[in-house]
Amino acid sequence: MTLSTIGIIGGGQLGRMLAMAAARLNFRTIILEPQADCPAAQAANRQIVAAYDDPAALDELASACDVITYEFENVPVSAAERLAASLPVYPPPKALDVAQDRLTEKRFLNACGIETAKFHAVNSQADLEQALADFSGQGVLKTCRLGYDGKGQRVFRSSADSADGVFETMGGVPLILESFVAFEREVSVIAARSRHGEMRAYDLAENVHRNGILHTSTLPARVGQETQEAACEAAERLLSALGYVGVIGMEFFVMADGTLIANEIAPRVHNSGHWTEAACVISQFEQHIRAVAGLPLGDPARHSDCVMTNLIGDDIDQVPKWLAKPDVLVHLYGKTEARPARKMGHVTQLLR
Ligand code: AMP
Repeated sequence: MTLSTIGIIGGGQLGRMLAMAAARLNFRTIILEPQADCPAAQAANRQIVAAYDDPAALDELASACDVITYEFENVPVSAAERLAASLPVYPPPKALDVAQDRLTEKRFLNACGIETAKFHAVNSQADLEQALADFSGQGVLKTCRLGYDGKGQRVFRSSADSADGVFETMGGVPLILESFVAFEREVSVIAARSRHGEMRAYDLAENVHRNGILHTSTLPARVGQETQEAACEAAERLLSALGYVGVIGMEFFVMADGTLIANEIAPRVHNSGHWTEAACVISQFEQHIRAVAGLPLGDPARHSDCVMTNLIGDDIDQVPKWLAKPDVLVHLYGKTEARPARKMGHVTQLLR
């Protein structure tokens, strides 16, 4: 196999784990990230320390790499397009465009025949009041762009919850009001599509969030075979529609009757797929590297039940306890400062 170089935009833990998987298959990696000595660069061959949209840095990255990928969905679309003019960029920039705006995302999912919560675009206080009235005073208000881990969100539980001045307090930016989904549980599927259109999906993970941040992913999810198949089918339709290459994470709400409502997509490896490094022969990270490098996809079969737990902030202090347990894979991200709500690492415990 020829030794070639993969450029990764973004220097966080996902980039770090991609770089580690790439190294095992003889690829070199270069990270583009403004923060020096970032988690990804610690495990990569080289870092270009510059803003994601710095034209000179992008051109330098393009000239040093054979293919480009990214580890977060807020890579400026213009940067991805600039790179795509001279070398392959996977997933395609169109996937960024769709995932960066919750309205565009929901419309795209619906156009693929994938059900989401009902929604209204909210561009003023009057829009908000009208949208809430349509949903009987209930709903989840989110910023269209740049919201993650529950940030930039406001829940309206009943018409008793006042909406006074809320458009302003949310920053006067474009918003989306989603109908409140009374789900039974939350699950996600990690799926992949190769350069040749081949597709694979991992088993559904059941996810529990705390304070808007993923806390645990448990395998198997408590869903029936039909629900698993419906998630795979939705992922396949989405990946085909995007002409996608790489790994994608799709989060769903599961209703009491087992039907699925798509919540959001992440055009990258995903936190709820970290369990794959312990419970599958081919992890989501290797699957992504295989896809973007034009190699055959690996078998996503799961050999064990497991629980992945995120180590957030001070949870990092529990590492000695986790290290002492059998059947636990500990993965730390090389972040020096343990700020609250900061993802410091994760552990996956096999259940057998
Ligand atoms: P998100 O940032 O869209 O992933 O939302 C964070 C969390 O808020 C989700 O994992 C759900 O637990 C909850 N949530 C988001 N949207 C809705 C909705 N439309 N109805 C009910 N719960 C929601």
